[in-house]
Amino acid sequence: MVGILEDKDRIFTNLYGLQDWGLEGAKARGCWNGTKDILDAGRDWIIENMKNSGLRGRGGAGFSTGLKWSFMPKEVKDGRPHYLVVNADESEPGTCKDREIMRHDPHLLIEGCLIASRAMLAHACYIYIRGEYVFERERLEAAIKQAYDAKLVGKDNVHGWDFEIYVHHGAGAYICGEETALLESLEGKKGQPRLKPPFPAGAGLYGMPTTVNNVESIAVAGTILRRGASWFAGFGRPNNAGTKLFCVSGHVNLPCNVEEAMSIPFRQLMEDHCGGIRGGWGNLKAVIPGGSSVPMIPAEQCEDLPMDFDALRNLRSGLGTAAVIVMDKSTDLVRAIARLSYFYKHESCGQCTPCREGTGWMWRVMERMATGEADPKEIDTLLDVTTQVEGHTICALGDAAAWPIQGLFRHFRHEVEERIASYRSGRLHVQGAKLIAAE
Ligand code: SF4
Repeated sequence: MVGILEDKDRIFTNLYGLQDWGLEGAKARGCWNGTKDILDAGRDWIIENMKNSGLRGRGGAGFSTGLKWSFMPKEVKDGRPHYLVVNADESEPGTCKDREIMRHDPHLLIEGCLIASRAMLAHACYIYIRGEYVFERERLEAAIKQAYDAKLVGKDNVHGWDFEIYVHHGAGAYICGEETALLESLEGKKGQPRLKPPFPAGAGLYGMPTTVNNVESIAVAGTILRRGASWFAGFGRPNNAGTKLFCVSGHVNLPCNVEEAMSIPFRQLMEDHCGGIRGGWGNLKAVIPGGSSVPMIPAEQCEDLPMDFDALRNLRSGLGTAAVIVMDKSTDLVRAIARLSYFYKHESCGQCTPCREGTGWMWRVMERMATGEADPKEIDTLLDVTTQVEGHTICALGDAAAWPIQGLFRHFRHEVEERIASYRSGRLHVQGAKLIAAE
């Protein structure tokens, strides 16, 4: 057996697109099987079982999915419609899991949308898909058409729960992955995050009760409820239940997406699925374990590390979207983080001052750190600024810009200091964006 998870326990059995993505193929893999029974079991049963399964949101925050669903009003009041919104704006650098679901197993998502909507008393669902995902949008729309034609969704469908499902194509802004910016964009406005409260469950899309969930969180719902909450809860360490899609990129021999049991040790994930670290285990330098916004961890903390929410939080990092970016000893970590700083500066929506001004300031200083042209005293100033941005903004983009820098200096401050010293002593000089060692 390779890895921990056996093939019989995989939810995404067509992750690599080797089988038919369409309705017939999906049904042959178990999708749309017993869906009516699940819906007929009612709101409370669905939510209770989702809670018991231990599923934590797969979009990065790791909040209990069942609990989130339970925040929606228990009944429809004054005719105010409820909405489910699916966040398919997958834009975090390193993350590429939801696109595989939409390409190869779109019916799992559509079925999950119906089930989640039933639990939330919603009769309409919007899937907000990333602007660059043109093929994925076309595939999803084709699958939705199949579901309508087969009367699996729509008015008077075979499941007895009227349900409309719409795909909305974004325009490629990273910030629209933030749930309230996504709602603004869906309403046709500029994609800028809203102040919370009110939270979407109270006043979301068009001011109505709304829940926003990640693609993977919704796509696993049908299988969890078919196979039972205890089956799903049986994988991973306590409080970190279930199976999870990991997207591994960077300096491994076989970058891949793979569904594994939560809490799989990092080394096993690398060895069993990714062909090991490029150049061998001793060549590993650092890992960004959950998408570009989480702080990196050094190689020595990685080996036996369970890949789950709690273990990574204890290391002051995070599982995030489980987008694992592996960096070997050839990596210029300072340059890499400077590049990420540019990304967050570019994607700031500009609403709040610490983020609008701070992300640009941090990027410019990081650029000089990367070339060695900075003053050593600027390191502490930079770290101080990261703490002034972190936690002082409307949305988490401020944190996302600050954390990679904090992770770099927590573990590799000496590299930056050495670079600055080399530049000052004339052992390094800069040519364009390149660092050249003196002859
Ligand atoms: Fe916009 Fe940045 Fe403020 Fe978020 S933190 S609302 S991206 S300015």
